[in-house]
Amino acid sequence: MNIQGKAKEQNTFDAIVVGSGVSGGWAAKELTEKGLKVLMLERGRDVVHVSGYEDMMKESWDFPHRGRVDKTAAEEYWAVKRTGYAANEGNRGLFEKDIDHPYKEKRRFDWIRGYHTGGRSLMWGRQSYRWNEKDFTANLEDGNGVDWPIRYGDLAPWYDYVEKFAGISGQKENWDVLPDGQFQKPMEMNCVEQHFREQLENKFDGRHATIGRVAHLTEPTEEQTALGRGSCQYRNKCIKGCPYGAYFSTQSATLPAAKKTENLTLINDKIVYEVIYDDDLGKATGVRAIDQNTKEEIEYFAKIIFLNASAINSAWIMMQSKSKRHPNGLGNISDQLGRNIMDHHLSSGAGGVIDGWEDKYYYGNRPNGIYIPRFTNWGNDKRDFLRGFGYQGRAQRKRGVPTDATFGATLKESLTIPGQWTMGIGGFGETLPSESNLMTLTDDKDQWGLPVIEFDAWWGDNEQKMRVAMRDEAIAMLESAGFQNVNGYKDEEKSPGIGIHEMGTARMGREEKTSVLNKNNQVWGAENVFVTDGAAMTSSSCVNPSLTYMALTARAADFAVNELKKMNM
Ligand SMILES: Cc1cc2nc3c(=O)[nH]c(=O)nc-3n(C[C@H](O)[C@H](O)[C@H](O)COP(=O)(O)OP(=O)(O)OC[C@H]3O[C@@H](n4cnc5c(N)ncnc54)[C@H](O)[C@@H]3O)c2cc1C
Ligand code: SF4
Repeated sequence: MNIQGKAKEQNTFDAIVVGSGVSGGWAAKELTEKGLKVLMLERGRDVVHVSGYEDMMKESWDFPHRGRVDKTAAEEYWAVKRTGYAANEGNRGLFEKDIDHPYKEKRRFDWIRGYHTGGRSLMWGRQSYRWNEKDFTANLEDGNGVDWPIRYGDLAPWYDYVEKFAGISGQKENWDVLPDGQFQKPMEMNCVEQHFREQLENKFDGRHATIGRVAHLTEPTEEQTALGRGSCQYRNKCIKGCPYGAYFSTQSATLPAAKKTENLTLINDKIVYEVIYDDDLGKATGVRAIDQNTKEEIEYFAKIIFLNASAINSAWIMMQSKSKRHPNGLGNISDQLGRNIMDHHLSSGAGGVIDGWEDKYYYGNRPNGIYIPRFTNWGNDKRDFLRGFGYQGRAQRKRGVPTDATFGATLKESLTIPGQWTMGIGGFGETLPSESNLMTLTDDKDQWGLPVIEFDAWWGDNEQKMRVAMRDEAIAMLESAGFQNVNGYKDEEKSPGIGIHEMGTARMGREEKTSVLNKNNQVWGAENVFVTDGAAMTSSSCVNPSLTYMALTARAADFAVNELKKMNM
């Protein structure tokens, strides 16, 4: 459909933001606060802050199958189930049913989605780390992928900016491998984690542990409380939505800020499938969408478009946006659109038990663990693989001493006694960019007649070697710190996607012939279209990526509005 006249006027805004997740929320906040009339288009239903978190107070016994994955769910959530946790009755409320949104796998790909207002900002684990200086030069130094068109210094002020607003609790450490940020009070390590930290410092050169840096408020600022956010209550039910607005999500933070400006229009249930490009004007003029319920097609228009549909979905939209200038998809002269899919590979690490501290316990359910930053190929450490990995983990004291009873008074009594201290650490490894890790559009169509994606990506030799080290170093560190019965693991089954950090499908670069986006996240040849979600990533580092998407988005929005004011858009 092609709308004209008054209807077109009603559907015309200064800017369109596609997607309302972590990065889309930031785009909407920044653009509205800078005075633009912004339309946010979200493909899924609306989830209203607090009242929309249907399971937030429930315990496993409140569900018909005590929180387990029942047979129907196993069929409907066939990819989500592979996480091992997110298809449980108690967690899956905000995850998307794979059966409704099918995709194909040349090789297994665990695509985990949340199609609703807030996207995965409602379910994310909130671990928030800055990239370091070397993360931005690694591609240039070892020749994998292309060089980043920006450096850490370009992003550092934007990290400051987004951390202050989002609220990141963490401990300043002054380590170059893990730059410090604008932190609120750190959560506390428990006694066994403290012990582990000390042992690492004493026994290994250049290895450290710190409390996780996490997007939870521990000292809310006036700006945060004015948005209705409060301190974290240590309930650890975050994956169901937080009634206190204590962790950063679109609903708790960026959406209320954008709404406050009265410049935001949020429209749900609209699946954007194409960017409209005008070959005569040499720029995009809007987007085409289909209503997920009525299947009505509709066009929206704007001077600036931000694609924030998440790495895979933004690339999917761009692949369908063909014109004379962009015959192979928007910004795809390089043939890099949909390639270089990266994720963090995990499920390799170790766990053990330790005696002592039987007189100690801890308060609440801390929604956080500890972090061990990368130490491989750092300083004097040299390996037979490139780059490195960090670990996330925790020590805890489960309730209950061993008993054969599976129900009844004996079991109940055993559960009143604190059990042994255990500790586990699992690696998060960097994936190298590779053109042969890709997604393509197939001839299969979904229920809206839109093309289904096929994934063809796997871990390369570098990742495989790293996974061995991730396990072996975890065993070595736990054993050196005095843990017993240390068990290492390295799950061969786990495939790309499982880290839920997919990225790289429309990489930034220095030249149109080798990348899809320029240094300001503008699409080459469609400079009024910005892509600031994980699609933009040129390499993957080994730290969780969402804080970097936030910083890139705020930086690009600032650039976009300045260019608009200069009449360059
Ligand atoms: C269980 C879990 C744990 C995680 N833990 C961490 C962590 O600890 N740290 C970290 O950094 N990251 C973590 N992540 C990853 C993090 O959630 C993502 O990196 C982040 O949400 C990506 O932001 P985004 O804006 O690109 O996409 P999303 O947050 O996924 O938002 C995309 C939005 O776009 C909408 N959309 C998609 N397609 C279209 C379309 N065609 N038209 C209109 N709208 C569309 C979607 O419905 C969605 O609302 C975790 C994720 C999960 C699920
Ligand atoms: S642990 Fe904190 S952030 Fe998580 S749901 Fe509870 S109050 Fe909210």
